[in-house]
Amino acid sequence: MSEKYDVIVIGSGPAGYVAAIRCAQLGLKTACVEKWRDAKGRGINGGTCLNVGCIPSKALLESSHRFTVATRDLAAHGIETGAPGLNIARMMDRKNKIIQKLNGGISGLFKANGITALFGTGTLLPDRQVVVVDAQGEKTTYPAEHIILASGSVPIDIPVAATDGEGIVDSSGALEFPQVPQRLGIIGAGVIGLELGSVWSRLGADVVIIEALADFLPAMDQDISREASKIFRKQGLDIRLNCTVTSAQVQDKKRGKKPRQVELQYRDGTDSDHTELFDKVIVSVGRKPYSHGLLASDCGVEQDERGRVQVDDQCATTVPGVWAIGDLVRGPMLAHKGSEEGVMVAERIAGQHTQLNYDLIPDVIYTHPEIAAVGKTEQQLTADGTDHRTGTFPFAAIGRALTAGEGEGLVKVLTDARSDALLGVHAIGPAAAELVQQGAIAMEFGATAEDLGMMTFAHPTFSEALHEAALAAHGHAIHSLNKPPKKPT
Ligand code: FAD
Ligand code: NAD
Repeated sequence: MSEKYDVIVIGSGPAGYVAAIRCAQLGLKTACVEKWRDAKGRGINGGTCLNVGCIPSKALLESSHRFTVATRDLAAHGIETGAPGLNIARMMDRKNKIIQKLNGGISGLFKANGITALFGTGTLLPDRQVVVVDAQGEKTTYPAEHIILASGSVPIDIPVAATDGEGIVDSSGALEFPQVPQRLGIIGAGVIGLELGSVWSRLGADVVIIEALADFLPAMDQDISREASKIFRKQGLDIRLNCTVTSAQVQDKKRGKKPRQVELQYRDGTDSDHTELFDKVIVSVGRKPYSHGLLASDCGVEQDERGRVQVDDQCATTVPGVWAIGDLVRGPMLAHKGSEEGVMVAERIAGQHTQLNYDLIPDVIYTHPEIAAVGKTEQQLTADGTDHRTGTFPFAAIGRALTAGEGEGLVKVLTDARSDALLGVHAIGPAAAELVQQGAIAMEFGATAEDLGMMTFAHPTFSEALHEAALAAHGHAIHSLNKPPKKPT
């Protein structure tokens, strides 16, 4: 038996590494186990989010957006640059350097906080012990007072479109294309389909997105998803709803030196069959919790039918002293949700009474324009029978948005018809994520639409759209015609 820790965290994604840092800050002797290795076989921290998720996708979204600005938008400002060229290898190199820098940042934080980084696969044993198997197959068992499981999630694969890492890829493969595919097929019009579809479409790919559901972004407020659908189609994303993929096969024969294409078949809502050829296909149909090798059969931790480790509102599992956080447990699969669970669990272990507010976790899709939401959608309030008011305001009437050439989209505010408490803030448009975060702060402090309306917002800012939407909920937006406010029933 090896050294004993107060806390061992298994997994160093945004849930696990944040939990480890907060534990160490609170004076707990902490180790963090991680099995991820880079191309050279070195252990690295950061998990999905840093290595193949949030950060690389945002790096490519930024680069591809700048390409669009250079090719399409600068001329309108009177800036003549000629046709810009593309260097994908350099774009990828920039992305990889950002990842490496942040990998180093976590290592530095671990060292500075006195956290022991253990590289290897961790398995939870009974009696609060963790066995770690390193790259050489060496096994070491560590006892701990508390263990935090944070092993994250992996992409869902579908048998009709098995990934081969070349023609048919998951999101990780889609962050590594060596060149722009001429025709790109995407299965699933969710967050990844839209973000990575936008990246490659901006860089010149002809993108077709096949979505099984009949509704586009059904979990978003419907006014926002309708607007998003309009904008994305205008941008050239060919989104085919209500279509079921029946097979996707990488073609057998290589035609000359050309890479093999993928033949994708799908059935549409009228039961008609279609066949399309693509240079690449991305499968982005959701993610599932990952617990392979994490739990010894007699460790006592229970999982639900979807493989999520069962936890209560404070992330305690069914075994005392064992906690689970992040994508491994219920709730939205978002980095910031996992990080805040990590902080909550660390503080609870240290005897504090921290509780995460699961009702106010913002959700952002980093397309251009961005889509963001916090709180309830109008369809949820209607289904719950909550008497509510809505205030919407278009960016087309916001001076700052027009000067930025960002006049598409809107902000929508939902309030309780009696108390005027803010119940939801939704946006599609410039800086939508930042505006919705302002809404989240207001909601966390119990603000009303009237409170927001009475505040002074700097002019000219994008935030004025939030101000005006709050005023519109009471029928007195200044820069648009108002509908009479709904009276409480
Ligand atoms: P992970 O980040 O998956 O980390 C789990 C870690 O545990 C991994 O490093 C894994 O190697 C390790 N591990 C697993 N089992 C073991 C074991 N037995 N022993 C040792 N180590 C183990 N979310 C956002 O909020 N914003 C975004 O913009 C965003 N963009 C995304 C883009 C893409 C393309 C993808 C795929 C995801 C994106 N996400 C985004 C989701 C986000 O990445 C996840 O919600 C987040 O990474 C979950 O954090 P986690 O710590 O729970 O798990
Ligand atoms: P998703 O759940 O967002 O979307 C999956 C889509 O695929 C859905 O619209 C679903 O109806 C569709 N689908 C499912 N099976 C299908 C099939 N057989 N054929 C056609 N369509 C099918 O999942 P995702 O886009 O893979 O992303 C996974 C998770 O990663 C997200 O849920 C999110 O939590 C996280 N993520 C977040 C961000 C962000 O916060 N900006 C970015 C990327 C990923």
